[in-house]
Amino acid sequence: MSEPNVDRAEIIGMTSTQLKDWMAALGEAPYRARQLHQWLFKHRAPSFDAMTELPRTLKKILEERASIVSARIENIFISSDGTRRYLLGLADGCEIEAVFMPEETRDTICISSQVGCPLACDFCMTGVVGLKRNMTAAEIISQVIIVLNDVYGAGNPTPHRTNIVMMGMGEPLLNYDNVMQAIQILADEDGFAIALRYITLSTAGIVPGIDALAMEPRRPRLAISLTAATDEVRDRLFPINRKYNLDSLIAACRRFPLGPRERLTFEYVMLDGVNDSDRDAKLLVRLLSNVKAKVNLIPHNAAPELPYRSSPMQRIMEFQKVLTDAKLPSFIRRPRGLDISAACGQLAARHSATE
Ligand code: SAH
Repeated sequence: MSEPNVDRAEIIGMTSTQLKDWMAALGEAPYRARQLHQWLFKHRAPSFDAMTELPRTLKKILEERASIVSARIENIFISSDGTRRYLLGLADGCEIEAVFMPEETRDTICISSQVGCPLACDFCMTGVVGLKRNMTAAEIISQVIIVLNDVYGAGNPTPHRTNIVMMGMGEPLLNYDNVMQAIQILADEDGFAIALRYITLSTAGIVPGIDALAMEPRRPRLAISLTAATDEVRDRLFPINRKYNLDSLIAACRRFPLGPRERLTFEYVMLDGVNDSDRDAKLLVRLLSNVKAKVNLIPHNAAPELPYRSSPMQRIMEFQKVLTDAKLPSFIRRPRGLDISAACGQLAARHSATE
């Protein structure tokens, strides 16, 4: 696995304490570190030049020693439903993607955590690419800055109730330290100030990672990509299920500490004829019977490379009825950005395939 080729400090991947220490090593006072911190995370300044109250000499030093965003926009695809999909280039030429989804009451930014993914889930385009490398904390944060600055403009406040979901490329729990570092930075009340309850980490079921997250004093919401209610089906869709089967996964979910009104989200991608019968729905109800759960039913985003089709909407609604009758809360996710290759990893995978 290669490491990113950056010789300048990736300061947006630093917590406020780390930034203070880094500035102290340059001989700068803590109040300067605080100013820099505000410019980076409150105002999302695109350049050091824009940081008006910093002295010119300091700006020059920062320009030489540090970089702000460690990614650049290679392409933006805008869907008729307002979804904006970003193909981003990292310093070493790797490509990742992030997605902005406007909704009536809130906006959601979907970000990547790895370049590619090692899990090779059979219905996911990112699995086709394989893992190239982990993303650094700064690269993970860069996606949020780039998207917010593109949509709202640098300097304008991050809208209240902006949601961050780690549902782009990669398995966040296999890049644990960098992902947790990025989440702490996003949640820092003096910086982005995105509340932890508006940040969701989604996993394909890395049991030791779920247990590690359970021990964190400050943790995001957790979503589990379940998509199957039996080991037989799940083994086929998620190779990782052969290592951490449903028994061990559900046991980890049961011991995961939740707030009084908090529920775990279980994502269930609806695959025609594979996992979408009423019997599957009943098995799902039984599987989650002792878990504080809500289920997101997700129409599959098809791609020629993937041997699956989405269940028809009628079937999804019938499937949902079984859950509702059993008092298991569920939501049908509206497909987004269908006209711009919105399935996870489609953009970067297509791009590398055509190079
Ligand atoms: N590795 C993590 C996060 C990335 S995948 C995880 O597995 O949760 C984010 C979500 O997108 C998962 O719920 C996954 O099941 C879903 N997904 C992947 N490919 C999809 C596709 N082609 N159509 C619909 N959902 C998909």
